[in-house]
Amino acid sequence: MTGGLEGYDEVAEANAQKSILDIHWSRICARLKAEVGEVEYNTWLRQMGVGPVDEDEITLYLPTRFLRDWVRGQYGDRLGALWHAEIPAIRRVELQVARGPSPAADGDASAAETGAPSAATPPAMPVMDAVVVEEPRTAEVRSDLAAPLDPRFTFDTFVVGKPNEFAYACARRVAERPSSPGFNPLFLYGGVGLGKTHLMHAIGSELVREGRVSVAYMSAEKFMYRFIAAIRSQSTMEFKEQLRSVDVLMIDDLQFLIGKDNTQEEFFHTFNALVDAGRQIVVSADKSPSDLSGLEDRLRTRLGCGMVADIHATTFELRISILEAKATASGVEVPAKVLEFLAHKITSNVRELEGALNRLIAHANLFGRPVTLETTQDVLHDILKANNRRVTIEEIQRKVAEHWNIRLTDMSSARRSTVVARPRQVAMFLSKQLTSRSLPEIGRKFGNRDHTTVIYAVRRVMELMEQDPAFAEDVELLRRMLES
Ligand code: ADP
Ligand code: MG
Repeated sequence: MTGGLEGYDEVAEANAQKSILDIHWSRICARLKAEVGEVEYNTWLRQMGVGPVDEDEITLYLPTRFLRDWVRGQYGDRLGALWHAEIPAIRRVELQVARGPSPAADGDASAAETGAPSAATPPAMPVMDAVVVEEPRTAEVRSDLAAPLDPRFTFDTFVVGKPNEFAYACARRVAERPSSPGFNPLFLYGGVGLGKTHLMHAIGSELVREGRVSVAYMSAEKFMYRFIAAIRSQSTMEFKEQLRSVDVLMIDDLQFLIGKDNTQEEFFHTFNALVDAGRQIVVSADKSPSDLSGLEDRLRTRLGCGMVADIHATTFELRISILEAKATASGVEVPAKVLEFLAHKITSNVRELEGALNRLIAHANLFGRPVTLETTQDVLHDILKANNRRVTIEEIQRKVAEHWNIRLTDMSSARRSTVVARPRQVAMFLSKQLTSRSLPEIGRKFGNRDHTTVIYAVRRVMELMEQDPAFAEDVELLRRMLES
């Protein structure tokens, strides 16, 4: 111990952080070396050293400006992707020239542990070491302009069965050889919770891991918000350029763009520019291109021009395989009887199936008790009940309209008087609570209203229930009637 030394804690912490970075760094160096070969590695990369992390950016040092520029041009994106794969929070790499003691030197314990070349590992130096810096500039990881990829959603964790094997094969193919003719765009469609987002993230992660291309993934909603924000801040040119500079653009849940004409138009142009430049597009939606009424015809036509792959509802066999895989990964023993029971009872989608299993596993871990059929029925009684009887939005609308004595058509009418607006909000609230429909789907069933209207309705009903016990009782009563 270095007891009594002033500032010890800070130095110790900085060193601990540094040695964690070193472990990642030695792995990255090992990969780089394997990728580029020994000669190239020793020529350009060996002298690189790791600096501090600041939020989403890590600084790397090179001893000369020439080396810095070369590495930035040749390996900037790759370094970004490798760091991002090691530490997802890191999205950018800043390359700086650091004079003084060369940050790279031989020998470090962590290198031996990870099997990385010791020459690649810089010595543990305090993170805050003063360095002389010239012209800081940033090499960006392209995923930066989009949403991050969920590291759990990979091809390895995707369970393949009859209903999804075609979509899976197409996704794999695109990840292996983006922009192949016939697979561009790749259009994945299917119901909620069947694995569309999972497959898109898997494509993205695979490509980023391979470091071959820059990938941007975002929901159609996010695309729209970013586009609108760009218009507001008068930076549409920048937005367009950013999007058009990626190699692979993935837009999830395209049905969000229905009725959003300007955004559709922008997406159409981005789409064309990227495809014409030989870049890959991957799109998901809840319906096939031809069934997505409300999309502009020319966009619909182009979307159907590449590969269209649907994910069908799960089969009993697939549900069992998925449950088995997830149970094994969790390390908790779940008897086959319980898995079969779940696969019989929860047929809606994989998300719900997964949610039920997760709850069982959490329960088992928390109380240290084995999972049995009895505990399953007990722990999941609410989910099982909801799955026993699937309430539809139409039923909810009917019951709520009857209760408040309004016409069923007012559920989708444009009338705004409280007499009809309030029951309509309650029906939206109950649809959200009792069905697995998404907000946009619910909005559509209520006279093509926007999903933000549904969000507002849910909030408003919750507020009112708190303020007004009689109203709360009404809603509770309706809920119980619909559930039984
Ligand atoms: P979607 O985007 O089609 O609504 P998601 O991709 O979000 O559905 O999937 C919902 C959940 O179910 C995710 O946690 C996902 O990992 C899981 N999932 C879906 N299909 C599979 C599958 N075939 N194998 C493993 N997990 C799956
Ligand atoms: Mg999704």
